[in-house]
Amino acid sequence: MHALLLLGLVGAVLGDSCTDYNHPKFGKVGKCISKNCCAFGTYISSLCSGDNACCFAQDKCGSGSVLGGCPNIVSRSAWGARSPSSVTYLSKQPVHYAFIHHGESAPCTSQSSCSAIVRSYQNYHMDTHGWSDIGYSFLIGEDGNAYEGRGWDRVGAHTQGYNSVGLGFCMIGSFGSHVPNSAALNTVKSLIACGVSKGKISSSYVLRGHRDMGSTDCPGQALYNLIRTWPHY
Ligand SMILES: [Zn+2]
Repeated sequence: MHALLLLGLVGAVLGDSCTDYNHPKFGKVGKCISKNCCAFGTYISSLCSGDNACCFAQDKCGSGSVLGGCPNIVSRSAWGARSPSSVTYLSKQPVHYAFIHHGESAPCTSQSSCSAIVRSYQNYHMDTHGWSDIGYSFLIGEDGNAYEGRGWDRVGAHTQGYNSVGLGFCMIGSFGSHVPNSAALNTVKSLIACGVSKGKISSSYVLRGHRDMGSTDCPGQALYNLIRTWPHY
């Protein structure tokens, strides 16, 4: 009872309802949803009525909309990754750069079709390029999922000369003449924010397209034009 009373008082001080509540860590992003749908258990029950709780992270039951917290990340085992032939960890974290790429492939809008494309990227990187693993840190599909590549902690092979000071985010598809759908764009934005909140990416990070660091069209003209309007570019 005391804990509930205290939460109630804090709520009254900082905001009278879930949507007004300014969470010290996540800000005013709360939404009343079923407790079981709130990712990471980042909710406060007392701010919503009935069985709902005020959630400050992703609504796992919703359409992939992300409030605070991190988007859904499909693990390597879930997309069927091969084991890397070797692993090198980043020696300095958080990293300074977030790089945007595109995969120059067909697009995908389901977890199964995106997983197949991610596997094909990995095969290409390992078998044709002879790399130790898929090059990107993460990949993002138009299904709204993020796919774990080398992840937050390993040195990637995505942006030559900058792999040890940045993470590489690859939008699955080809974005020379159109941009990714809103699900994919929301996911990559929240994934980068997630990396900042985890201490993997500097809060004063610099966002760049692959072509800013080398001679390539990547991430495609349309997507490149878009990311240049984003914060941190
Ligand atoms: Zn690239």
